[in-house]
Amino acid sequence: MSVAVELTHVTKAFGTTLAVNDVSLKIERGEFFFLLGPSGCGKSTFLRIVAGFYKPDTGELRFDDTVMNNIPPHQRNTGMVFQNYALWPHMSVAENIEYGLTLRKLEKPERQEKITRALQMVQMEGYHDRAVNTLSGGQQQRIALARALVIEPSVLLLDEPISNLDAALRQQMRDEIKQIHDRTNITTFYVTHDQVDALSMAHRMAIMQDGVIVQVGTPREVYQFPKNAFVASFIGETNFISGKVQHTSNGTATIETSVGTLHSKAVYRELTQGASVQCSIRPEALIVESNGRGAAENRINATVTAVNYLGRVEEYQLVAADIPLKAVHYNPGTEAKKPGDTIQLGISADAVIPLPD
Ligand code: ATP
Repeated sequence: MSVAVELTHVTKAFGTTLAVNDVSLKIERGEFFFLLGPSGCGKSTFLRIVAGFYKPDTGELRFDDTVMNNIPPHQRNTGMVFQNYALWPHMSVAENIEYGLTLRKLEKPERQEKITRALQMVQMEGYHDRAVNTLSGGQQQRIALARALVIEPSVLLLDEPISNLDAALRQQMRDEIKQIHDRTNITTFYVTHDQVDALSMAHRMAIMQDGVIVQVGTPREVYQFPKNAFVASFIGETNFISGKVQHTSNGTATIETSVGTLHSKAVYRELTQGASVQCSIRPEALIVESNGRGAAENRINATVTAVNYLGRVEEYQLVAADIPLKAVHYNPGTEAKKPGDTIQLGISADAVIPLPD
């Protein structure tokens, strides 16, 4: 049975490093939840607290209504998958998966049935007797997943589980992990620095920076309504144009910048007149309007510095008033722009998001 996982004011320090700093968070029963942040922000420490490998210095961890702070890892009914697989190389596939079932003192026939089902779930039927060290990286990762799932955990903990795989296999594993979650509905907590993993799989995600959770939301909420410049640049790509708020009211603002006055209808954070802000504008929101007849509320002049034609999209590196910008153009036409061309960019006021500096 899946459980809800709740942390209240949890802190964990190593010497003077506050790896997890006063974090409160609730992961709902059956939720597929991501913790995302750059290297060293405290993700693994957080996961290890949930698994029971670390005890919080302060605060409380609960699975449903049960306080878990003093429950040892093997009594938490969590399944864990590590980036480096952590399989036992001298054992067969079946022996690796069986280990947790033997600890739980299940009879042999039941163990065998569960192993077969776990192997089916990760599409590795028939691999029972293979030595683990003869499997590919992707296959080993599937066995690690089967080993975590076979015990029917209340919480599945995944620590960068697909980071070691190549790009095509990663995409395949994303789809499969998502399907496994849909079928099992196990509360799943996945830590990664890879935004594509999180955007493509998460029900909700938390963005962590220096041990602190900066924002929690669905992928759409976090991408479209980033709380600050760090989140805007960490989730997806963005351009920043700095400026000062001239005027603001009812979710709109005018901002004085070095590329001219920008109009925003995307004020989601409190702004005061005169405040310094960074306007986040996604590359796909910079519309190249060489004929200058677009309907956007904002227009800026820019010079092309590089063009990267990729078929489905075309990427432009640009510079406007010494600010480097990136624009992404979908369905590029036949007309090619080249470095040195001056162009006009149209930007909808909905796409200019002023964030605290
Ligand atoms: P990565 O993505 O690189 O694995 P992370 O976000 O998982 O990073 P953590 O491994 O949780 O980050 O580390 C958070 C901070 O705590 C880092 O500054 C790290 O150096 C420190 N830290 C983690 N574990 C220990 C430890 N056992 N002893 C001392 N410091 C530690």
